[in-house]
Amino acid sequence: MHCPNCGAKASARQKFCRACGLSLERFAQLLAEPSPDVEGKDEDVERARRRLRYLESGAKLSGCVVGLAVWLLMASVIAEQHRLPQAQETVKMLSELNVEMSASVTEQTTARLEEKIES
Ligand SMILES: [Zn+2]
Repeated sequence: MHCPNCGAKASARQKFCRACGLSLERFAQLLAEPSPDVEGKDEDVERARRRLRYLESGAKLSGCVVGLAVWLLMASVIAEQHRLPQAQETVKMLSELNVEMSASVTEQTTARLEEKIES
């Protein structure tokens, strides 16, 4: 037999490849195992084909989903470009609101801490 890793010649009794050190025991066992009958192989091929068909349909479906997502993204980008000043205003308002909110949370936390310290 030959080493499945490096292709160097190796005897079936060798445990490791002399060239690359790959463990040959497992491969020797696999080679020694009786090959499955033709009927079983056909079943495997049929199963593999069915799986491939399933994967293909899945790929088509996900392609549609990706296409839809890209379309939606482009539509939203175009919409965003048309009302950019308004969007900027909204972002500004939101960030101001965030600052106010975090400030009030900090104030509350500080007040509570002070209460605890005092009591
Ligand atoms: Zn090897």
